[in-house]
Amino acid sequence: MTYALPHVSQLKPYSSVASVQAMPDSNTTIKLDQNESPYPPSPLVREQMNKLLEQTVSRYPAADYGTLKSAIAKHHAVSPSQIVCGNGSSELITMIFHTFVGPGGTIAMPYPSFNFYETAAAAAQAKLMRMETRTDFSIDVDALLAAQASVIALINPNAPTGRLLALDEIERLTSRAAGLVVIDEAYIDFAGLAHSAIPLVERYSNLLVLRTFSKAYGLAGTRVGYGIGDPSIVAALHLTKTIYNISAVSESLAVAALADQAYTQQIAETIRRTRMQTETALRELRFDVVPSDTNFILCAPPTGDRFPDALALKNKLAEHGVAVRYFDAPRLQDKIRISIGTDEEMKTVMALIRQWYQ
Ligand SMILES: *Cc1c(COP(=O)(O)O)cnc(C)c1O
Repeated sequence: MTYALPHVSQLKPYSSVASVQAMPDSNTTIKLDQNESPYPPSPLVREQMNKLLEQTVSRYPAADYGTLKSAIAKHHAVSPSQIVCGNGSSELITMIFHTFVGPGGTIAMPYPSFNFYETAAAAAQAKLMRMETRTDFSIDVDALLAAQASVIALINPNAPTGRLLALDEIERLTSRAAGLVVIDEAYIDFAGLAHSAIPLVERYSNLLVLRTFSKAYGLAGTRVGYGIGDPSIVAALHLTKTIYNISAVSESLAVAALADQAYTQQIAETIRRTRMQTETALRELRFDVVPSDTNFILCAPPTGDRFPDALALKNKLAEHGVAVRYFDAPRLQDKIRISIGTDEEMKTVMALIRQWYQ
């Protein structure tokens, strides 16, 4: 029946988008299920869109996306030889597993975490070892080291928990790991850039830090991510990447976004503030809220016959035009994950939630 290899036939499709009805009064939906930015990207991105030349789309881009690499290098004060770009950082995750792990290899990762890593590992015929986080979802560095995997990967701050691991713990992990350490910083703008592991790259040749334009920069549809690490790691990834993995359009928009740091940091700060207000409002309704350093909140609604459980809450919100995320997975079944929208959107959502939990 199938021409696919046996391990491919067993993969589960990546599903993220919830089906949600439009809001009864406005025919729109509030999308709080994929941690995207509710705000537009920098005005410089819009300007760049208007300036795109026909040539940009009719000719191949530079295979080494040198303009983008130079802009990223300048922004982080590193060398272009330390940078690799991907069609979103999720492509880099796949590339890393194919380049450094492969069939039969092992990856250690905290659990819970972004489940795309599990699919990417299975597609590379590698084994992802789930190392449990503590009861409060904090990451246990010693457990990750004890797994003796060829790659240790972690998301910092972690998704879908929102918890941040301190930089000295990342350094302890990197200095003691036998193999490659991958730190996925998709949400670091919301935690504060002082927590970034990028400065450690100069000292540890086994460290690769991933960033994306999909969250704070507001460019999820553009599909650009990058990794910063030792030139030897970067060179290996360039050997296995597809030829033109960054489109010329994406490259030019990402460069424009990078040029406006003030805008992105202001957006990140706005979202942080809204997140803190939402955390407080949820706690007042006796939700159990996991402390977050990101643009989302993982929380469990109060239990009792009077209250919808987490899955029922997700469904009730969907009926009212609001998409949030529910994970049918261990340690997460009593919780929902709410991405932070605009203040206006969060007001609407909290008004709905208040009706059911007051
Ligand atoms: C959103 C996200 C990414 C970024 O994915 P892109 O492919 O860059 O859109 C990477 N890692 C985690 C944990 C994420 O949540």
